[in-house]
Amino acid sequence: MPLLEVNRAFNSYGAVPVISDVTLNAERGELVCLLGPSGCGKTTLLRLIAGLETLDSGTISFDGANLHSVAPHSRGFGLMFQDLALFPHMNVYGNVGFGLRMQGLSSGAVRRRVDEMLELVDLVNYGDRKVHELSGGERQRVALARSLAPAPKLLMLDEPLASLDRVLREALQIQVRAILKEVGVTSIYVTHDKDEAFAIADTIVFMKRGSVVQAGPPETLFRAPATELVARSLGIRNIIAGTIVGASEDVEIATSVGTLTVGGPAPAEMSVGDEVLVLIDERQLFVEPIHDDPSADVIVLNGVVRERKFRGGEAEIHVTVGNDELVSIVSSADPRSDVKAGQDVCIVIPPKAITLLPTA
Ligand code: ADP
Ligand code: MG
Repeated sequence: MPLLEVNRAFNSYGAVPVISDVTLNAERGELVCLLGPSGCGKTTLLRLIAGLETLDSGTISFDGANLHSVAPHSRGFGLMFQDLALFPHMNVYGNVGFGLRMQGLSSGAVRRRVDEMLELVDLVNYGDRKVHELSGGERQRVALARSLAPAPKLLMLDEPLASLDRVLREALQIQVRAILKEVGVTSIYVTHDKDEAFAIADTIVFMKRGSVVQAGPPETLFRAPATELVARSLGIRNIIAGTIVGASEDVEIATSVGTLTVGGPAPAEMSVGDEVLVLIDERQLFVEPIHDDPSADVIVLNGVVRERKFRGGEAEIHVTVGNDELVSIVSSADPRSDVKAGQDVCIVIPPKAITLLPTA
């Protein structure tokens, strides 16, 4: 049985619906990321789980018990919000020990637990520092130590790294995941950043306007996005509209870049005449000056290189095909990355690079 179960939750502010029929679970020790654009209801969902807002209908259960009549402070959950600042008049030690003193622990027990937490977030010997003597990243680690110190049964983190610059954020994502996994605490982590969700999550719950669009492991969402919005939000760029024109043995799709034939059979719900979206993985399609292996089981299209961008270890090649454009990402060390704008090329697509989505 999942530890946290949100079942058919609805919530509104006044007459405005904000959470509509949300169902989600978290298993013990699982790291669930709520991912979605600003305003889609992520913070509201956390506040509902914390008991700071009340459901219009639906249930939230923890460890098998309905939380409906459990007061927020009796739930034993921890919160870490981006703007939940450290107490500026206390040093690191005072901040991390705050929740423990509130619980009435003896000063010796507080000290042992704070030391343990500072070791966990790699800030041993920082206890006497004042808040203003810490870097942005160190502050977030102190805030994490503070929320973990009382050993919450569930930790909710609301965009905890959003105020940091990209390099620091990426380093901390890895640390935060490692720390949460070491502690084994079940966590709900909110972000609007797909890369952060990929770095942190066991499970991503993709939200749009108060509803869950798709939930699953990061790789599943990336390989099999449920909708165009999920695909685009996860950074998939080669998305072309098409119509199924053949679905007997192989599936044939007429698109703006030509007719694509992919190994059949068609997904059960698709038949001739259906509009579909064709997703082509940018790391599985290649650009070649000449394609001279007619025996290979690949789709070959002709195009013209519009632009080649150098991105560190990788090249990003934009190719105009018909009225559309396809992007190929290839290692800079790969000879296939060596093309120039204006050059005529072949685009080589193995059928496994293609995913078909029904149009919404
Ligand atoms: P997110 O965290 O995904 O950005 P929020 O849960 O903060 O989204 O907000 C969801 C929607 O609810 C937004 O349209 C927001 O304007 C609205 N909202 C949030 N808090 C309140 C409130 N206290 N009163 C009225 N509307 C609110
Ligand atoms: Mg928010």
